[in-house]
Amino acid sequence: MPDRVSVLLPVPLAGPLDYRLPPGVRTQPGDVVMVPLHGRTLHGVVWDAPPDPGLALARLKPLAPVHGLPRLAAPLRRFIDWVAAYTLSAPGEVLAMAIRAPLLAASPQGQTTGWLPGDARPEGAAMTPARGRLLEVLADGRPRGLADLIREAGVGQGVARAMADRGWLRPVAMERAQAFATPDPDHAGAATLSPQQAEAAEILAENVRARTFSVTLLDGVTGSGKTETYLEAVAEALRLGRQSLILLPEIALSAQWLERFARRFGVAPAVWHSDLTPATRRRTWRAVARGEAAVVVGARSALFLPFPDLGLIVVDEEHESAFKQEEGVIYHARDMAVVRARLESSPIVLVSATPSLETMVNTESGRYGHLTLASRHGGAALPQVAAIDLRVTPPERGRFLAPPLIEAITETLARGEQAMLFLNRRGYAPLTLCRHCGHRFACRDCTAWLVEHRQRRLLQCHHCGHSEPVPETCPACDAADTLAPVGPGVERITEEATLLFPDARRLVMASDTIAGPEGAARAAQQITDRAVDLIIGTQIVAKGWHFPHLTLVGVVDADLGLAGGDLRAGERTLQLLHQVAGRAGRAEAPGRVLLQTFSPEHPVMKALIGGDIAAFMAAEAEGRRPGHWPPFGRLAALIIFGEDMAETDRVAAALGRAAPHGPGIEVLGPAPAPLAMLRGRHRRRLLLKTRRDIMVQPILRAWLASVPVPRGVRVDVDIDPVSFM
Ligand code: ADP
Ligand code: ZN
Repeated sequence: MPDRVSVLLPVPLAGPLDYRLPPGVRTQPGDVVMVPLHGRTLHGVVWDAPPDPGLALARLKPLAPVHGLPRLAAPLRRFIDWVAAYTLSAPGEVLAMAIRAPLLAASPQGQTTGWLPGDARPEGAAMTPARGRLLEVLADGRPRGLADLIREAGVGQGVARAMADRGWLRPVAMERAQAFATPDPDHAGAATLSPQQAEAAEILAENVRARTFSVTLLDGVTGSGKTETYLEAVAEALRLGRQSLILLPEIALSAQWLERFARRFGVAPAVWHSDLTPATRRRTWRAVARGEAAVVVGARSALFLPFPDLGLIVVDEEHESAFKQEEGVIYHARDMAVVRARLESSPIVLVSATPSLETMVNTESGRYGHLTLASRHGGAALPQVAAIDLRVTPPERGRFLAPPLIEAITETLARGEQAMLFLNRRGYAPLTLCRHCGHRFACRDCTAWLVEHRQRRLLQCHHCGHSEPVPETCPACDAADTLAPVGPGVERITEEATLLFPDARRLVMASDTIAGPEGAARAAQQITDRAVDLIIGTQIVAKGWHFPHLTLVGVVDADLGLAGGDLRAGERTLQLLHQVAGRAGRAEAPGRVLLQTFSPEHPVMKALIGGDIAAFMAAEAEGRRPGHWPPFGRLAALIIFGEDMAETDRVAAALGRAAPHGPGIEVLGPAPAPLAMLRGRHRRRLLLKTRRDIMVQPILRAWLASVPVPRGVRVDVDIDPVSFM
């Protein structure tokens, strides 16, 4: 009988620690246990690493078993180790993402007392009709809380209390809320699939039945029925009694998706995201671990849930950069989802109308399967996309909507149809300056301009959240009434639209005007109900919404995303604008999209106008291949940051001097990050670029180990960076 085991703790240590098994206690890898560490008691998980037999048993601290928590299955333990090794994170930090939920509310908070009949009628207790009714209710073996029990039995509280006092009823711990109902794969809500959809659905279902790892790209224009199609793969997993995980980039904006799921399967899926209450998290986590939650739809963190029998993963909008987690453990949920699927031997479906170049290249090489839905469902035409050349037909001075766009909106509204204006910028103006002295309002803690939010009378930093009131006079020159907004945000566009279309009912959709998932759902419902005519929004409006009466989309500044100029600026702009465009004309009436741009000849604009995304992506690939840029090479970024600029620069310089070199290895930097200061900390960047056949992790480990990092400076490692800020 073993006398010790290794235990992984949810803290940033290099690996698991060894603990002594008290007499009579046996554990298995995956068991949750309690252990002492530096005078604290922590939850941990028995790990697979063999303990060190060389340590004296007496020097090891004892662990204590924890009952009632499910064991973490082997594939999840492998996954945690894999993600830690790939992202150069401490395994404990990754474990924390997997078990934080149940432990957050480890107190009996999420539990309540339920009642069941005691063993027998206590001596001397008389049976009465009321007591009989109460026992009858409990005869189905399901415990009830006191309130439910007396309501169902139609008896007074005193009856139940008296029975409980005498042991005629016994208390049991009960999860507070109802368990998750199982979605019904054969519920009447299934659409009749078109032949092309049916063919794709059948292949996906076959993959589910195969119970082996496979990756399939499901690609098709917006509105072609990709969701409808992959839900059939979910149905197949349900028929096999296996669990499914569906990752959505922004679950808070997925009200329509959830509704649609409920229509298809009769009940809602389990939902997982960071805004759940601790009690709900804990309950959901356990339901997943016990296999009771058959379908989970979630944000990227759902990837670390303890599914005992995962039969399918779907990543919807796989191209979305929202899948990249940029803080803590820095990982790309789409890529890690593929890894989890492999470790679980389950199929994974990547879904997008504009797949990432990474995924395209994998389909071309045959590593991923590829299914395409070529046309919109029900014969709806794809929207007509045209550019408005702002050099030829500029807006009036101080305005942002060009005459052709105004005209198109006027016509659309006159026909009783809906129009949408898209600008991916919150607030009133991205920059405020003093007309008298030229002073520009910047964040004191970040390399960023303060954004005016006129309704709230605030200047706000969109990076750290700092905000200050708009001053009466210029803080630099004291002049009054000289502050001028520069450039538009959605608030300013709304102001202009109010002047131009005073009779149109307007709705602004931005993350700061829409309160949470309910707010987004309400807004979407208002649009579907035709309670609004003109929608003005940020990227929130681009999400998978289905607005049948929307026929015109105007993109206020199509060039906006191209300005940053990083590796994927073109690809990302195309994906975003294509998705926005896809909101138009989804039902009978044809849709129109107008792009306001200063460069209609830019490849991104041409691809949108001509509808030839494949050609754009092919050109993009040819642009990246020679320099070994991803996906034809590997990237890893080091971000060095600290409050002391000199220290930060010293570490960055030392890393620069110690940079790895060799054939196929290149290091760029150190250089100040574009966001050279964030939340009061200075930031420097280095970028490692290697050929595809070179693993970056060992290089990075050796590199980082060669440079001492003083207290007060930190180095983050970002493997496969998406943001270069
Ligand atoms: P995508 O995910 O490709 O954007 P969706 O699955 O959202 O497309 O489908 C677009 C719209 O068409 C939705 O309202 C959907 O319910 C409807 N739809 C798609 N396929 C069918 C079908 N076979 N029968 C009925 N409605 C369908
Ligand atoms: Zn700031």
